Amino acid sequence: MKIYNSLSKKVEEFVPHTEGKVNMYTCGPTVYHFAHIGNLRSYIMEDVLEKTFRFAGYDVKRVMNITDVGHLSSDADTGEDKMLKGAKREHKTVMEVAKYYTDAFFSDTAKLNIKTPDVVEPATNCIPEFIDMIDNLLEKGYAYKAGENIYFDTSKLKNYYVFGNQNEEELMVGVRDDVSEDTNKRNKNDFVLWFTKSKFEDQALKWKSPWGVGYPGWHIECSCIGVKHLGEYMDIHCGGVDNMFPHHTNEIAQSEAFLGHKWCNYWFHVHHLVTEGGKMSKSKGEFLTVSLLEEKGYDPIVYRFFCLQSHYRKPLTFSYDALDQAAGTFKKLKNRIVAIADEGSVDQAAVKEWHDKFTETVGNDLNTSMGITLLYDVLKSELNGATKRAVIADYDKVLSLNLLAGEEKAASPAADDELKAFVEQKIEERKEAKKNKDFARADAIRDELLAKGVAIKDTREGVIWELV
Ligand code: AMP
Ligand code: ZN
Repeated sequence: MKIYNSLSKKVEEFVPHTEGKVNMYTCGPTVYHFAHIGNLRSYIMEDVLEKTFRFAGYDVKRVMNITDVGHLSSDADTGEDKMLKGAKREHKTVMEVAKYYTDAFFSDTAKLNIKTPDVVEPATNCIPEFIDMIDNLLEKGYAYKAGENIYFDTSKLKNYYVFGNQNEEELMVGVRDDVSEDTNKRNKNDFVLWFTKSKFEDQALKWKSPWGVGYPGWHIECSCIGVKHLGEYMDIHCGGVDNMFPHHTNEIAQSEAFLGHKWCNYWFHVHHLVTEGGKMSKSKGEFLTVSLLEEKGYDPIVYRFFCLQSHYRKPLTFSYDALDQAAGTFKKLKNRIVAIADEGSVDQAAVKEWHDKFTETVGNDLNTSMGITLLYDVLKSELNGATKRAVIADYDKVLSLNLLAGEEKAASPAADDELKAFVEQKIEERKEAKKNKDFARADAIRDELLAKGVAIKDTREGVIWELV
């Protein structure tokens, strides 16, 4: 397999640390609110990545954290604690909020056919491990105490800007959020490992530590949870592009200072879903969630299909028009699959050949749109019906679009209305043709509808139609 590595900025051959095995880590959600469909774009593409590794024959272990403490509203250790903000908004405790939105997250991911990672670990489960790692960093001189908090000292590293993409604007993140800078920091990019004394006197969750009662910073959780479940070597680490700095940069700083060697070889970043108005946000404009799409009549799988149509390394612009288009294409694709003749027996050699084609295509930096094109090639091919179905079932292990699950019912309300209007107009034209005894024309209309997956029947009550 080949994959673009944000560290080298190149598409590289994927070589795992241990042959045949992939240690994979995903930054999980901050559970103070529902995930928006932008967050879920990242999780869909990471799901496809995991399934592509499995499809290619790797034994994958995937770990994901749940951020239920420590993530402040600015990534630069400033602003309000996101969990506390959620608790205040909903007049609930932080743990109630965490439980509610963790459940909501997994309900959304299930609707999108996203497999739950092998290990899911909330940050609040691992406080002793965080304390051990911080202690070790202090001992080795990579961390210091100031203003009663513990900070990571970025000046101790030869190469802090590992991704090399940090610009002044990103470095100014704290300033931009209109909050005063933390004067305890020795260097601009130093970050908090443990808060004991901070402006959050009302912080709900606090734990005892050698440095006083407090709570962890955001970045430490992924380093610790990664090492806890995957050991000293991680093959691939995933997240959205916004995670590159400071989050992933700081994760690397902590982990490599702790381990004393390179930690993770490949970094996979999904570009953002944006709206026509710009960045997707939980606070501005319409809050786009899976439930909202369902309320509007969309099958969540149509959103997955929409994401798979484009490359993960390009921003994707969301609009209902674009989603309607995806819904229409998906519906036609499903109807073509449903219409595959039930004939022949499975040609296993052909299934293997098409399997390898898919591995090569999608395994080339996760080219999901070419993977979908391959599906059309299968449909157009000379394979018998049984073999076509077997190949499609195989591809669906990665695409997870319920391709063989029968009729696509709730594609999109707009697509349904369009089809209805079209069919009704054609039925009228056919009635007219019959009245004029133009039976050839009447038959041609029936065939035209059939080609679109619509069967019509003349009954005593009039003409009825159904999708086939
Ligand atoms: P959060 O719950 O804010 O920690 O984010 C969860 C995941 O969603 C992270 O991997 C983010 O990088 C990613 N993410 C945030 N916004 C977007 C977006 N608009 N499009 C794609 N991924 C995003
Ligand atoms: Zn993380």
